[in-house]
Amino acid sequence: MKIGALEAGGTKMVCAVGNEKGEILDQISLSTLTPKETMPGIIDYFHKAGIEALGVGSFGPVDLNKKSDTYGYITSTPKLAWRNYNLLGELKKELFVPMGFDTDVNASMLGEVTWGNARGLDSAIYITIGTGVGVGIISNGALLHGMLHPEAGHILLAREAHDSYKGKCPYHGTCLEGLAAGPAIEERWGKSGKDLAGIQQVWELEAFYIAQALVNYTLIVSPQRIILGGGVMKQEQLFLLIRQKYKELMNSYIVTRETENLDEYIVPAGLDGNQGIMGCIALALQEI
Ligand code: ZN
Repeated sequence: MKIGALEAGGTKMVCAVGNEKGEILDQISLSTLTPKETMPGIIDYFHKAGIEALGVGSFGPVDLNKKSDTYGYITSTPKLAWRNYNLLGELKKELFVPMGFDTDVNASMLGEVTWGNARGLDSAIYITIGTGVGVGIISNGALLHGMLHPEAGHILLAREAHDSYKGKCPYHGTCLEGLAAGPAIEERWGKSGKDLAGIQQVWELEAFYIAQALVNYTLIVSPQRIILGGGVMKQEQLFLLIRQKYKELMNSYIVTRETENLDEYIVPAGLDGNQGIMGCIALALQEI
C-alpha cells in the first residue's frame, strides 16, 4: 500500500511515500516559497506516486476543527503568503484520496507513539526545541486537540534569579520559547548553541527552563513519558542536567513507577529524525 506523507514546514516541504509499516520508500524536499510556487510540485509528486491516502502535518497555527468552515487552513502564521491558506482544500481539489491533517508537532508525537520511543503508551508528550518550541500530546490514546491545539511552547515560566535576559518571544518575552529556543540562546550568549557546547553555565540555565516546563507538563497532562527532540536537544549533555533540575523542582511531589527512573521518563526522540514524516504516514493510516 502506498501512503503519502507531507510534512509542511515553514522553510521546506518534505513529501514522502511510505507503507503501512511506516517505512519510507521515497522522499523529496521542496523549499517553502509561496503557495503558487510550491503547491504544484507537491501535487505533482503525489499524483505520480499513485498514493492511496495522504497525511499532512503542517506548521501553524492551523484549524483542526472538522466542523469549522476553515478546517484544514493555515491561519494566523507570520508567513504572510500562507496566512489563511486552505492547504487541505487545495490538496483535496487535486488528489482524491482520504487525508489526515494535524500540526507538524502532533504528527511527530503520533510517529513516536506508533513506531518510536512512546510506542505502546496511551499518554505521552513530545517537545521539539529548535528555532521555536512545539509540543504534541497523546492523551487517552489520541492526539490532544481542544479549542485549537496545544501551544505549549509558549507557557510562561519563572525567571531564574540571576537572569536578566528580556526574552525572545514577540508575544510573551519570557515564555519557554522566548527563553530557551535556539534564537534565545544565540541572542542571550551572542553565539549559536553549537558554538557554546562546552560552556556548562549555558546548559545549566537552559536545563532549568526546560525542566520547569516539563514539571508543568507532568502536572497538567500526566504523560507516561516525555520525549525531547529538535536542534537544541542535539546537545546531549542537556538530558542529564534536565533530569537533575526536574527532580529538584518536582521535589518528590509525584512519585510513580514511570518517574522512578528519570532516564526512562525523560528521553530523546527516536526514529532518526523521521518522526514527523512517519507521523504523517500514521495520520494517513488513521483515515483509511
Ligand atoms: Zn511566547
